[in-house]
Amino acid sequence: MVRILVATHNQGKIDEYAQLLAGMSAEFISLSTAGIREEIPETGETFEENARIKAEGYCRLSQLVTLADDSGLEVDALGGAPGVLSARYAGNGASDADRYRLVLEQIADIPPEQRTARFRCVIALATPEGDVFAASGKVEGMIAPSPRGDFGFGYDPVFFMPEYGATMAEVGDAVKNTISHRARALQAIGPTLQRVIASRR
Ligand code: IMP
Repeated sequence: MVRILVATHNQGKIDEYAQLLAGMSAEFISLSTAGIREEIPETGETFEENARIKAEGYCRLSQLVTLADDSGLEVDALGGAPGVLSARYAGNGASDADRYRLVLEQIADIPPEQRTARFRCVIALATPEGDVFAASGKVEGMIAPSPRGDFGFGYDPVFFMPEYGATMAEVGDAVKNTISHRARALQAIGPTLQRVIASRR
């Protein structure tokens, strides 16, 4: 079984990867399981740069095939912010609610039809031989006037999807896992990952 490092300490993310990539004869392990304590800083200006930096950096440290992602929310009326700053928007010590409240505040005067936004995710795959691949996924929506729903995390309560008549925090994990930016990026990197795994058996 080929061991694949998923560059996160978050077991939820590992489970999501393992679920969405089930059927590949690979074992997905976390940074903690791989014994990696060092942190590779996200110094890139785009999701793709950050994903590549992390995949290459953790691959170098682990000498394992490594998957890393970077994701966030882009609000058109804010010129694409919070973007790569999604996790840090509203500063240190802020909560998910602080962050989405700041977005709501910043676009309070923007008319409904101009509140377009998307979640974007880029996943990079690095091999110890020095190959790096990247794939992306996105889901389009609108910033809701106020938060709704209890599922999910982050900006989900304010991310409204007209075709579902619901926010990402209202649709639940089963739906989210089929339509999310991360699910789509994972699907897109799937064939490349399959090829890399096959070449290492
Ligand atoms: P990271 O890619 O795990 O570093 O996530 C970056 C940040 O983007 C998170 O902390 C959230 O604020 C936001 N984000 C990423 N994916 C989602 C999502 O599926 N729902 C809501 N917020 C998200």
